[in-house]
Amino acid sequence: MPATILDGTAVAAQIRSELSSRAAAFTQRAGRQPGLGIVLIGDKADSQIYVNSKLKSAGDEGMKATLSHLPASTSLADILSLIDTLNADPLTDGILVQAPLPESLGPAAMQKVFDAIAPSKDVDGVTPENVGRLVQNRADLVACTPAGIIELLRRSRIDVAGKHAVVIGRSDIVGKPVSMLLLHRHATVTMCHSRTQNLEQIAATGDILVAALGRPGFVTRAFVRPGATVIDVGINLVTEAGVARSIFHDAHPRRALFERKGSVLAGDVHPDVAEVAGALTPVPGGVGPLTIAMLMANTITAAELRGR
Ligand code: NAP
Repeated sequence: MPATILDGTAVAAQIRSELSSRAAAFTQRAGRQPGLGIVLIGDKADSQIYVNSKLKSAGDEGMKATLSHLPASTSLADILSLIDTLNADPLTDGILVQAPLPESLGPAAMQKVFDAIAPSKDVDGVTPENVGRLVQNRADLVACTPAGIIELLRRSRIDVAGKHAVVIGRSDIVGKPVSMLLLHRHATVTMCHSRTQNLEQIAATGDILVAALGRPGFVTRAFVRPGATVIDVGINLVTEAGVARSIFHDAHPRRALFERKGSVLAGDVHPDVAEVAGALTPVPGGVGPLTIAMLMANTITAAELRGR
């Protein structure tokens, strides 16, 4: 039987309608809308697309999002000074700095910028304080993609407690926090990465398999235990014909899209996995919409906590 498709777009819409009521209640109480300050440095096209959808979503849910868009030549000192201003601004409840920063700022810049954000406004869950709170299972603001994955599992009534969850990828924004959240929900968690030996065999022992490695179509049927829940976090733009054709068979609608446009989005999970998994998130339309919904949820939570 083919896998149940976990429709992230529908779940995100449900969450967002709940957030609109929370935002309206906050606005009535506080006399102002919850405020999100978005910082974008440079002109990277995909970053601009992500930022635009965050701005739109905030407006749709009754929040006030303000964009500070600075040129790629902006110095680290000027970015940190902008963060200080947003930290002190009473109308800004949440601060989001769109990653990545321009490479010219150096490899340590992103962490320095994250470190400068006031933890109470850290709606991306990236500051050391909020990461520490996550480890201690007492975080109010958790990284958005991992929080979205947990929300999707919860609302899809997929049990986590007592299950074996295998997470492929150990990044600070996805792999580590989602592993911690699954652990707090009483899963037995195995974290895998590029040095893991026998990855395929380990993955195939998971009741829940989270693929967050950024390799299109990497997780094939052999990685998946029959009936497992597979969460595909990867968002990969495929531009090579050989790669596209190895992932999407001739009759797959995304193959036609590739042949027409010369590029196509692919997850980390091969589409054939749908024949063996019990449940599967699509790409696009799976984890992605949840990420933005949880950013909005964190902004309202930050506003409510600051307004107390
Ligand atoms: P990342 O920082 O590049 O981390 C990738 C992780 O995967 C690393 O831990 C790496 O291991 C591991 N890895 C890479 N190749 C591997 C292999 N062959 N076998 C096993 N492990 C391997 O990536 P990320 O930021 O976590 O993002 C992962 C994917 O999720 C990307 O496609 C990204 O676009 C997508 N993403 C989607 C959303 C969303 O909203 N849906 C949000 C964030 C990210 P090492 O640590 O050993 O290098």
